[in-house]
Amino acid sequence: LIELDNVRKSFGDFEVLKGISMFVQKGEAVCIIGPSGSGKSTILRCINGLFPIDEGFIRVGTHRVHELKSDKAMRSLRHQVAMVFQQYNLFPHRTALQNIMMAPIQVLGHDRAEVEERARKLLKKVRLSEKADSYPGQLSGGQQQRVAIARALAMQPEVILFDEVTAALDPETVKDVLFAIRELVEEGLTCILVTHEMKFAREVSQRVCFTDHGLIVESAPPAELFDNPQDPRTREFLGQVL
Ligand code: ATP
Ligand code: MG
Repeated sequence: LIELDNVRKSFGDFEVLKGISMFVQKGEAVCIIGPSGSGKSTILRCINGLFPIDEGFIRVGTHRVHELKSDKAMRSLRHQVAMVFQQYNLFPHRTALQNIMMAPIQVLGHDRAEVEERARKLLKKVRLSEKADSYPGQLSGGQQQRVAIARALAMQPEVILFDEVTAALDPETVKDVLFAIRELVEEGLTCILVTHEMKFAREVSQRVCFTDHGLIVESAPPAELFDNPQDPRTREFLGQVL
């Protein structure tokens, strides 16, 4: 479903991605781990077209991302590829339910009643049915993040990119957010997760990619990567975080 081939990306004369290749199949959950500044967020932003790339090839479904030029083509890509960030960026003056309903109505032009029904189902899925009418300011960080995930799902994307979605949360609420993501993965959501939660990466993903200095140093099923890392840089990193 997603394919990156030798993707290179520089900011000015600083090369952030030095030839990234990866492949994600439909229904797969792939985790990206690695030190700060190694290019993890940049990879996600290239995949959904937020950053143009300098060299290489990115495909998502039928979209050849590196070649998309028109706004229309970009919008079509963004409908397929949702992104959830560390800062959940909900609209503060809209309730949880309204936050989830906005894009399907305004962007996709879907029928309001249908959108509302789906939004309530999504709230139930992230276990926040009783918070439908709460405003973001009345919700905990973890609850807001789950609303943000439901909002991403409301666009019915083919892929969700999660960028350290639990990094800003209190430990108690991290677990609820990870639980929600785990359920989605078990239902077959295709996703790429940048995360510092090594236990979660091990339990939930089919594959883990370790990035360092703009390269994927090592990519393997979690049991292999965590228990028997091949590259000294992977070993050093895991030694620090585990
Ligand atoms: P973290 O774990 O801290 O989130 P990361 O692996 O996600 O790190 P990136 O955000 O991809 O790292 O950044 C990789 C490098 O690219 C960093 O050195 C960063 O300073 C640089 N960089 C990222 N975005 C930009 C930008 N818009 N302009 C210039 N440099 C950037
Ligand atoms: Mg990042």
